[in-house]
Amino acid sequence: MDYQQFFHGFLNHIQAEGRYRTFADIARRVGDFPKADATLDGVPANVTVWCNNDYLGMGQHPKVLSAMTQALSAHGAGAGGTRNIAGNNPLHGELERELADVHGKEAALLFPCGWLANFTVLATLGERLPNCLYISDEKNHASMIEGIRHAKCDKVIFRHNDLEHLEEILAMQPKSRAKIIAFESVYSMDGDIAPIAEICSLAKQYNALTYLDEVHAVGLYGKRGGGISDRDGVADQVDIIQGTLAKAYGVIGGYISGKAETVDFIRSCGSGFIFTTALGPAQVAGALTSVRHLKESSVEREKLHMNVSMLKAALRTAKLPLMESQSHITPILVGDPVRCKVMTDALLADHKIYVQPINYPTVPKGTERLRLTVTPFHTAEHIEQLVVALQDVFAHTNHQEKRVA
Ligand code: PLP
Repeated sequence: MDYQQFFHGFLNHIQAEGRYRTFADIARRVGDFPKADATLDGVPANVTVWCNNDYLGMGQHPKVLSAMTQALSAHGAGAGGTRNIAGNNPLHGELERELADVHGKEAALLFPCGWLANFTVLATLGERLPNCLYISDEKNHASMIEGIRHAKCDKVIFRHNDLEHLEEILAMQPKSRAKIIAFESVYSMDGDIAPIAEICSLAKQYNALTYLDEVHAVGLYGKRGGGISDRDGVADQVDIIQGTLAKAYGVIGGYISGKAETVDFIRSCGSGFIFTTALGPAQVAGALTSVRHLKESSVEREKLHMNVSMLKAALRTAKLPLMESQSHITPILVGDPVRCKVMTDALLADHKIYVQPINYPTVPKGTERLRLTVTPFHTAEHIEQLVVALQDVFAHTNHQEKRVA
C-alpha cells in the first residue's frame, strides 16, 4: 500500500470537485462582535462575520467571561481526568441541574461536546436495548448518523419531517419492539423545523422512545431558552433532549436531559462519557452563566429574531435566492461548489465579509449554498452592506470562472 499516494489521490479528487475545505484565519475580538481580524493574502483586514454559530454573541458576554476568569483562577485549567477518576467539580452538578431545569427534565449529563453526546447516547442505547430499531430522519446530523451506525442495530430512515412515512414505518413494527425516533428540532442547513408534537404523539401511539437534537435551538427559542420544544410547550413529551453549550450559549460542551434513570443509564455505560476527560471548570462556569442568563433574559432572543426578519426582508427585496426557512438560519442557494467558493472568496477579498461556503457532503450536490447567521449585534448598516456585496458577487461570478468582468 502506498499510503501517501492514497492520501494524495483523495485530496486531488476533492480539489477537482471544488469541495476541498480551507479554513480562514479569523480572530474574533472581544467588544467588537460581529467584527473580526482576518489575514487576506498576508495583509491584515477587519471583516464582518456572517456565518458564526455564536448566535447571540454570548461567547463574549461580560458575565460569561468574568465567570470563566474566576473559575480559572479558583480551580485551574483542566478537569484533571474523567469524572470517574477526578470526581465531580461542584460546577458540573450545578450545570447539569440547571440544564435539566431548562428542559423541565429530572436530570442532565454533560459531555465535552454535542457531537460526542449524540454519538455516545445513540450508540449506547442502540447497542444495549435488545433488538432496538432506529427510525432516523434523513437529514439528521453526522454525529447522530455515526452514533446510530456504531450501535450496529437495525435502522430505517424516514423522509425528512414526513409524518406519514414515519407512521408507515412504526406501524410495521410490533409494539413490544424497542424503537427510537431520532430527529432534530431546527435543521441546521435548511433552517426548517420538525413537527415535534406530532412526532411525539406517534411515538406514544406506537411505543417508541424520542431522541431530539435541539443543538440549533437551545438558548434561542422558548421563554427560558429551552429550544423549540420549550417554545411549543412539548418538552415534557420528548424522552431525551440533546443540546450544545457551544452555539447560542457561546462556550463549549454538549449534554442530554431526560428521566433520571435514562440519564443514569448513559452515565453508567456510555463509553464516550466514561472514558474521556470532563469539561474544565472555566468552561463549565462560563456555560452555567450563559444558560442562567438566557433563562432569565429574552432581550438577546428578541433582538435576534427582529434582525432575522430584517435580513430576510432585505434579501427578498433584493431578489437574492433566499431559501425560505422557518428559523434564524438563512441559506442562500448557489447550486454549484466551485461558484460557491469563488463567491465567498470574493465576498472576503472585495467586501470584507466572511461567509463560509457550504458544499457536499454537508448538503446534497446541486444545493451548495451560503449559510448566513445574523446575530443581535449586526446592525441595519451591516445588513445593507451584505446585500450590496451579495448582489455584486451574484452578478459577477458564474459557474466556471474565477470572477467575471
Ligand atoms: N448536532 C447538530 C445538528 C449540529 O449541527 C452539531 C454541530 O454543528 C452538533 C450536533 C455537534 O455539536 P457540537 O458542536 O457541540 O459538537
